[in-house]
Amino acid sequence: MLDVIRKKAEAGERITKEEGLYLLQEANMLDLAPLAQEVRYRHNPERVVTFVIDTNLNYTNVCDAYCTFCAFYRTEKDADAYTHSVDEVMGMIGAAAEKGVTTVLMQGGLNPKLPMDYYSELVSETRRRYPQVHPHFFSAPEIMKMSQVSGLSIREVLEELQRAGLQSIPGGGSEVLSNRVKRKISRLFPKGKVDDWTLVHREAHKLGYRTTATMMYGHLEEDEDIIEHLDHVRSLQDETGGFTAFIPWSFKKANTALDKRVKVEAGPNRYLRMIALSRLYLDNVQHIQASWFSEGKKTGQVALHFGGDDFGGTLFDENVMQEAGFYNRTTVEEVKTLILESGFVPAQRTTLYEVLHRFDGSEAEAEKSAVG
Ligand code: SF4
Repeated sequence: MLDVIRKKAEAGERITKEEGLYLLQEANMLDLAPLAQEVRYRHNPERVVTFVIDTNLNYTNVCDAYCTFCAFYRTEKDADAYTHSVDEVMGMIGAAAEKGVTTVLMQGGLNPKLPMDYYSELVSETRRRYPQVHPHFFSAPEIMKMSQVSGLSIREVLEELQRAGLQSIPGGGSEVLSNRVKRKISRLFPKGKVDDWTLVHREAHKLGYRTTATMMYGHLEEDEDIIEHLDHVRSLQDETGGFTAFIPWSFKKANTALDKRVKVEAGPNRYLRMIALSRLYLDNVQHIQASWFSEGKKTGQVALHFGGDDFGGTLFDENVMQEAGFYNRTTVEEVKTLILESGFVPAQRTTLYEVLHRFDGSEAEAEKSAVG
């Protein structure tokens, strides 16, 4: 089967679900890497790996969805529940902007007390006070919640946020896009089913938003569910072309209701396989993100040789995985070094994957000749 897949990859042809399953279950890791790299270079011909200077903020941890895989949410009555005012959030964004952050990824729990105006104001005030910051706010479940609370349709919610200045949304809330899995991990199923996530992203793309697609694997899914997830993303991308990147990461189980049901967390081998599979299956998505954050810096570096062309963000603040006992931090300099050490030229990008600055040594030379 590998020869068939190799020929298809070389010819730029699409692989089937069965072939995807073979790559996930049986293909030799050392065969996967060069195959994925070949396709990576077709999409992104230069030996450049991009990163963004960003942070992850949260406006509330109050949530009434109670997902079994989540260690972040609190009920309104919990002593450590919080909901920040718009001004408080602006203070957090201001502090991030001072550190050079250009992207703020902001998500929160599904707080039924927050009105639509609150969300619009978060966007418009960010745009007004910090024009250098790109708001990358609100995942699909939050958009659904806004629709439910306000009585507006999904499209109307997205239109209102767009008028406030929102241009992109993150891919959170997809977990694994298979209703077999959603039924097992979501306490409110059929709320939050696959069609809800795809509906929000489809509507967003139709309005001109760009979004990312993500996948959190390593809990109660089967291999077939992973392939189903990739297939949903590939189909929607065929339809709209609105996904900028695909970002898989592994589930962290500490402090979640799934802790005892998931015996062992997925490790680096599974992650590298997932990156290569994503690159080969998603023939219509340009960027595959290799995460230094969720899988560790060394695994992130190796993932750049398994089809990843982007190293994610600096993530100066991150609370969701931290609640699940997972802590990892970096600096801009370290990100650049990690990319260089892996054999690539680091380049700073925007939220929408436009390259701002390549760190290929020419900036140092330019400085030298200016002094000379
Ligand atoms: S994952 Fe999101 S929606 Fe689910 S409980 Fe956590 S905060 Fe709420």
